Amino acid sequence: MEDCIFCKIIKGEIPSEKVWEDDNILAFKDINPAAPIHILVIPKKHIPTLMDLKPEDNELISKIMQTIKQIAKEQGFAENGFRLIANCGPDSGQEVMHIHFHVLAGKKMGPKMIG
Ligand code: AMP
Ligand code: ZN
Repeated sequence: MEDCIFCKIIKGEIPSEKVWEDDNILAFKDINPAAPIHILVIPKKHIPTLMDLKPEDNELISKIMQTIKQIAKEQGFAENGFRLIANCGPDSGQEVMHIHFHVLAGKKMGPKMIG
């Protein structure tokens, strides 16, 4: 998608600090981290929101979850844990209309980050 900032990151038109890349998935550091470790994990396929997911995307989403596990091991926060957030739609405050999973780690988080 031409105007999508994450598609531009995938194409290398906007720089990013990559932590994972394969044929279908990219993970990179959030530019405005909300925790000591803040990684965004995205599919290379442009899907605007979680509401746009189709049954044929099930394998892709499953691969993203396995990739998050792998990143947690490689980046050293598997044991201490992490928080996974996915915003969807206006009420969530989703700013970038290309689905992404926020992986937050590296500190003990408050009991809630909701609302
Ligand atoms: P959301 O509010 O869930 O749509 O989150 C979008 C996230 O993308 C925010 O946490 C931003 O800090 C992050 N972000 C926006 N532009 C960039 C960029 N060029 N590189 C890395 N992260 C970005
Ligand atoms: Zn996109």
